[in-house]
Amino acid sequence: MDTFTYHNPTRLVFGKGTLEKLKEEIPSHAKRILIVYGGGSIKRSGLYEQILSILKEMDREVFELAGVEPNPRLTTVKRGADLCRKEEIDFILAVGGGSVIDCTKAIAVGARYEGDIWEIITRKATTDKALPFGTVLTLAATGSEMNAGSVITNWDTQEKVGWGLPVTYPLFSILDPVNTFTVPLNQTIYGIVDMMSHVLEQYFTHSPNTPMLDRFCESILNTVIETAPHMVKDLENYELRETLLYAGTMALNGTLSMGMLGDWSTHRIEHAVSAVYDIPHGGGLAILFPHWIRYTIDADPSRAAKLAVRVFGVDPAGKSDREVGLEGVDRLREFWSSIGAPSRLADYDIDDAKLDLMVEKALLSEKEFGRFQKLSKDDVRAILQAAL
Ligand code: NAP
Ligand code: FE
Repeated sequence: MDTFTYHNPTRLVFGKGTLEKLKEEIPSHAKRILIVYGGGSIKRSGLYEQILSILKEMDREVFELAGVEPNPRLTTVKRGADLCRKEEIDFILAVGGGSVIDCTKAIAVGARYEGDIWEIITRKATTDKALPFGTVLTLAATGSEMNAGSVITNWDTQEKVGWGLPVTYPLFSILDPVNTFTVPLNQTIYGIVDMMSHVLEQYFTHSPNTPMLDRFCESILNTVIETAPHMVKDLENYELRETLLYAGTMALNGTLSMGMLGDWSTHRIEHAVSAVYDIPHGGGLAILFPHWIRYTIDADPSRAAKLAVRVFGVDPAGKSDREVGLEGVDRLREFWSSIGAPSRLADYDIDDAKLDLMVEKALLSEKEFGRFQKLSKDDVRAILQAAL
């Protein structure tokens, strides 16, 4: 294992009926609360009304920022930060999926930062100040509810950048599976792909001696693979929603990276595709991940082989690790296709017209990236080309 220090300050509140716990979780000194949400799903589901009535009962003054877009934009972050300053907000409540939570993290920092928040997001500057915030999660996918990560798109420069700071952990997150019943089929599928991809990003590692972490990863993948085919046919099934909600959080709350350094190249390439074409994150990952594994398999074929045998039930008898691993990649592809995930960039009408731009946006100002295997410009182009 690699050395590590683990600290996750987020209070996780999980289960049916836990929305009422807002009364205990919101700090007593928070008097002026900004609710941040997306395009209106929380109004249609009734969650918005429930939250307002709880906050009213708590006698708090409520402000709101609506309309956070999937793949949240810098312009919205700035609007939120300005609102916080103008209204002297002292607490933010994010209600939604990863996009709303990621946007809230940037707003929380932006509200307390004198300069341009894009400097922080692009790591040209840093800070240890942020407004405190909590979340009510409505979609199982990103793990943003229990990590410090945030992904923000600057649409002017077509850059989608991941960042995070010790001050961007939520104070608490409330996860009631019932609040995910209304997630439509396509977003349910994208969420499944995203959480599996988070595990895969961490599984492809050169960190030595990780038997326990390998089993944690495989356990999450196996559970999601057992659950997903039923979930896509029965969207209001409590037990299935509960299992996926828990899996999504555990996939990216730091548990799997205790001593194991992941790769994260596929996320970076997907962010470039989303920055240029604004496609759903999970859809992009479903297309790209099998290609990334095939392309980098020789960096250590035993990892792909382990995944193939332990997660996809590939019979290794008489085959090399490389052959077994590649069979596993085919099974992964088949699995994602079987639940309705896209498999080619053409599924989003993306052709090679902006291939160079996507390559440039993936590299940003670096010559190469990735930990399991370093990827250069040519490597990224080859992976995108294969995914067309
Ligand atoms: P999302 O972008 O937050 O939401 C996608 C769509 O689902 C929205 O249209 C939203 O509608 C709808 N939705 C959410 N909850 C719903 C519900 N209960 N019922 C009906 N519709 C619902 O999706 P996400 O996959 O959670 O987040 C994706 C973003 O997170 C991407 O930008 C990705 O890059 C980023 N990400 C972050 C991390 C991290 O660690 N921070 C990790 C991976 C990815 P409304 O807008 O109307 O609510
Ligand atoms: Fe992701």
